[in-house]
Amino acid sequence: MKQSLQADFCVIGAGSGGLSFAAGAVQMGASVILLERSKMGGDCLNYGCIPSKALLAAAKVGNEIKESSHFGWTISGGSGGF
Ligand SMILES: Cc1cc2nc3c(=O)[nH]c(=O)nc-3n(C[C@H](O)[C@H](O)[C@H](O)COP(=O)(O)OP(=O)(O)OC[C@H]3O[C@@H](n4cnc5c(N)ncnc54)[C@H](O)[C@@H]3O)c2cc1C
Repeated sequence: MKQSLQADFCVIGAGSGGLSFAAGAVQMGASVILLERSKMGGDCLNYGCIPSKALLAAAKVGNEIKESSHFGWTISGGSGGF
């Protein structure tokens, strides 16, 4: 049986842009249909901004451990690729 949905907006893609628009529209009282064919959050959450920040943070910690002897620390255990 076919059903029809009624909404003020239909957003295609739940990446940064689509999610921001949908959340803003709902906060202003609009009804929104949000369609996503793959992963919620799009590139930023799943492949871009967030994963790259995690890699940068891990590299920064690794470098601080590597350089820690300059500050009197002796850290052993864990290779982390150094
Ligand atoms: C490595 C990397 C690092 C980045 N770092 C940053 C950063 O630090 N800061 C920053 O501001 N930006 C960063 N970006 C850019 C950021 O990821 C993009 O600007 C942002 O994801 C764009 O959002 P969007 O919603 O326009 O598109 P997308 O994130 O691409 O979302 C589009 C969504 O639409 C869906 N879709 C497409 N076609 C259909 C369809 N026909 N039906 C249903 N769903 C569909 C897709 O599956 C996807 O989920 C980075 C990008 C990369 C690649």
